[in-house]
Amino acid sequence: MSMHESAELIRLLKEQVSLFKTFEDERIEELVRGSRQITIEPNESVIRFGEEGRFLGILLDGQAEVSVTDDRGDKHPLHVLQPGEIFGEMSLMTGDRTMADVIGLTRCRALLVPQRLFSTLIASHPPSVVQLSRTIVERLRSMAYEEKGSELAASALRRSEDPYGFLLRTEEPVRILVINCGSSSLKYNLFDTADPQANARGGIERIGEDGTRLTQRTSRGETRRDLPRGGHGQAFAAMIEAMTTGDGAVLRSPGEVSAVGHRVVHGGDRHSHATVVTDDVIKDIEQAASFAPLHNPVNLIGIREARALFPDAPQVAVFDTAFHQNMPPYAYLYGLPYEYYEGKHLRRYGFHGISHKYVSLKVAEYMKRPYNELETVVCHLGNGASICAIDHGRSVDTSMGLTPAEGLMMGTRCGDMDPAILVHLMQTEGLGPDALNRLINKEGGLRGLSGVSNDMREIEAAAEAGSHRALLALKTFSYRVRKYVGAYVAAMGGIDALAFTGGIGQGSVGVRSLACQGLSHMGIRIDEQKNRDARGFERVCDISAEDSVTHILVVPTDEERMIARETLRALERGYVADILSKQEPTPVPIEVLSHHVHLAQEHVEALFGPGHQLTPVDEGSWPGRFLCEERLRLVGPKGHIDDVRVHGPARRTTQVEIALTEQFRLGVDAPIRESGDLENTPGVWVVGSHGSIALDKGVICAMRHIHMTPEDALRMGLKDKDVVQVSVPGERRLIFGDVLVRVSPTYKLAMHLDTDEGNAANITAGAIGHVDSIQGRKQ
Ligand code: ADP
Repeated sequence: MSMHESAELIRLLKEQVSLFKTFEDERIEELVRGSRQITIEPNESVIRFGEEGRFLGILLDGQAEVSVTDDRGDKHPLHVLQPGEIFGEMSLMTGDRTMADVIGLTRCRALLVPQRLFSTLIASHPPSVVQLSRTIVERLRSMAYEEKGSELAASALRRSEDPYGFLLRTEEPVRILVINCGSSSLKYNLFDTADPQANARGGIERIGEDGTRLTQRTSRGETRRDLPRGGHGQAFAAMIEAMTTGDGAVLRSPGEVSAVGHRVVHGGDRHSHATVVTDDVIKDIEQAASFAPLHNPVNLIGIREARALFPDAPQVAVFDTAFHQNMPPYAYLYGLPYEYYEGKHLRRYGFHGISHKYVSLKVAEYMKRPYNELETVVCHLGNGASICAIDHGRSVDTSMGLTPAEGLMMGTRCGDMDPAILVHLMQTEGLGPDALNRLINKEGGLRGLSGVSNDMREIEAAAEAGSHRALLALKTFSYRVRKYVGAYVAAMGGIDALAFTGGIGQGSVGVRSLACQGLSHMGIRIDEQKNRDARGFERVCDISAEDSVTHILVVPTDEERMIARETLRALERGYVADILSKQEPTPVPIEVLSHHVHLAQEHVEALFGPGHQLTPVDEGSWPGRFLCEERLRLVGPKGHIDDVRVHGPARRTTQVEIALTEQFRLGVDAPIRESGDLENTPGVWVVGSHGSIALDKGVICAMRHIHMTPEDALRMGLKDKDVVQVSVPGERRLIFGDVLVRVSPTYKLAMHLDTDEGNAANITAGAIGHVDSIQGRKQ
């Protein structure tokens, strides 16, 4: 854009766009500098239903139509945009896929502002926050979002080409280098979000030994180079040389790398998401090294090398343990004295999280169902093998533990066994820590049992040729997979999808078949022909029989792409963190919310009499919601709770929210869920003054959450369903992690804790918290 054009544009924006009327010159210049001007032809779409919202648009001239198309394909026009109006602001707020098409009616010009820039500029300018939130509230109303929002969001997700962001599309071009640094190997992948033809994938093997070799693939072919013997420093230098020189060059200089994503095996118990590397994060990785001595120290070497070579690129650590950090305590605790957990951090952490999350998201993408509605079991069967139960988007159990030795039998690891075996061997054979370590990690598993190999292909060949021990190894391996699948169906109380991945999961017809045998009463029924025909290294393959209730899928894993995606998301969260750190913290009142019930109108009448309407006692304090005079008794299989308040107004479905400890009183096992997510939750008897009802589902422990208005959210750079950390200053500073953000014009800013948490933290009336940082964002 020429100087003259940009001066013209600045004038136009100031005069025509009311949102920018109060912007200072500097702010508006920054906006124009970072944005892109486009022309839209008649009937051309700028934003398509189901796309990820990546920018905010401003119509400069012409007219464009905003419409939604329903699942039957019928178009419903919502609004005709005039010059000066904004579009694309909704997904900025809801975090959902775009729910409307924006199509040129005439030839138009528009300015597209990347969300990151827009959020930063708006958040720090209070008059625009107020104005934009008004526009958002009006548009939410015109879409009748409160009633139709979740349906529209689900439909947008179904029709999205890339619902979970694996195509790595960004508004501004980004080059992400993914590093997987091992003790004698370095694997790297370069992802160019503007041009996938410029991606590169490479590896250096035998670092520190003779015969070190680099191989790199790009769209132009393969490069191979023999390297002199050297350490990781030389390997990194060779990687840069391969990417910047010769036929395989994909970069002009290392400075073109925008961010580096590192696979880090153990994140300890502080990291439930990928995170930008800081000195504190390095300390955490060092601390967790005692549980992953073979991996964390070399992962750190990778981070240090990359920091030196790409000093301007943010480094992001993507942990293999992070996905499992939300497992409930009863799944991660060992049956050891509690001090071993509290003092020594001995607990189950789980691994392969990058793959489990990737595969479960691919399952949701394939099934065209929202991720947080599904119950999925993922079997990652490679040299290392683990299984994970993913219940409504959360890992609720996984087979590996403190270290990757627990769970399934693997290539050379023994997996689950009686821990007393180790003591027995110490006493009878005098084995010490090194020998025991070798036994359970290197000499066990397929290798130890078969005596043939740790490689499943060789085991299968030997079994075929009549080796009894190879057959035993194959059967033991598959049997454990089956046993864990069954256990995880029980853990979740159901299963929608079973996915196989990893070299064995993608490649072995026999293991998949044996692992599913006998599970048909759980709705798991494989189609043997489809199983034989599956091309699991190429694409997602459905191998379920016609009458299988559960989808059985083979999904090629792609941990590198997942690391790149998580890196992008960590950077996005980085700018929210930036917004939060630059402003005065917004005071968030903390309210302890005791057990309560939301009722559907039919249940109001069943419990309190025909035609009964709920009676508000405390209206006003809580816009859009009120406490009611009506009280209920909850009766569970074991006990009951009296005097439970009803919250009004009546809702579409009945929901009972109790505290964790109250589960025991009632004798129900209620999961921690977002409000409204009631699939596969337990029921309870509800008794009112007129009658009683038997709910077959609807009892949850609500996730701790913050209610806020669009205005609060804009000010803090947050979106609906973000997960944040909140601190409460006081004599003893309290930190609450995993707090879910809920945005609606009807909410009043407050954080809600249940009575257990309120009691444990000694929260008193009038306590105030602050949003410290963002941990996660909707998938
Ligand atoms: P890692 O866990 O080291 O990433 P992989 O996921 O590549 O390993 O899995 C390696 C395992 O997968 C090996 O046991 C190998 O024999 C097995 N495997 C690879 N391809 C096939 C195949 N087509 N059939 C059976 N097993 C296979």
